[in-house]
Amino acid sequence: MTTVRERTGDELKSLAEQAGRDLEDAPALEIVRWAADTFGDRFCVTSSMEDAVVAHLASRARPGVDVVFLDTGYHFPETIGTRDAVAAVMDVNVITLMPRLTVAEQDAEFGPRLHDRDPDRCCAMRKVEPLREGLAGYDAWATGLRRDESATRAGTPVVGWDARRGKVKVSPIARWTQADVDAYVAEHGVLTNPLLTDGYASVGCAPCTRRVLAGEDARAGRWAGRAKTECGLHG
Ligand code: SF4
Repeated sequence: MTTVRERTGDELKSLAEQAGRDLEDAPALEIVRWAADTFGDRFCVTSSMEDAVVAHLASRARPGVDVVFLDTGYHFPETIGTRDAVAAVMDVNVITLMPRLTVAEQDAEFGPRLHDRDPDRCCAMRKVEPLREGLAGYDAWATGLRRDESATRAGTPVVGWDARRGKVKVSPIARWTQADVDAYVAEHGVLTNPLLTDGYASVGCAPCTRRVLAGEDARAGRWAGRAKTECGLHG
């Protein structure tokens, strides 16, 4: 594994902005290879275990790459099963992050079903905060964000500056469509969450995810009926 020196925030920001321009038209593998080569063991992939496409791309660029998964305690069993399968068969190092409170402890402290009453607070405790702590040792993280998923993601850069966390954020498949994802999965036999073939187009926590209807965008099943569209990880 390559060891890369720690860079200052200004250096990282400048690297991110330059790479965002230089790599806008580059293939996904080239984008992720740039990140792996530039940041070495200070680069990781985050995965919701909806599929393992970005983890697969990153493992081609950097075998044994860290793949960070947030176990909110509210996942579908299929999602935990996908995480376990990825850890078992892929050349990646799956790291599971846990919130400070278990679901039972959160229920005792804040009352049951906080996700129904205050989903922003629930996401803050179960996703945003654990990820902030979990990314502390990295300078760059890769996501599976795509521009075609929703209006809020339409401007996603392939490499950008995550000012809130002071890190480089890499979205190698930002320009891909669902058809591109499907083709990559078929070509490489990539693991996917079984819920994707059961009417779910985007898979999150069980209480906040429903199947999508014909004509809806991929993320319409997340926090359906609420103004909320993002969990705060990408806001
Ligand atoms: Fe809580 Fe729902 Fe956010 Fe999961 S998606 S952390 S259950 S509010």
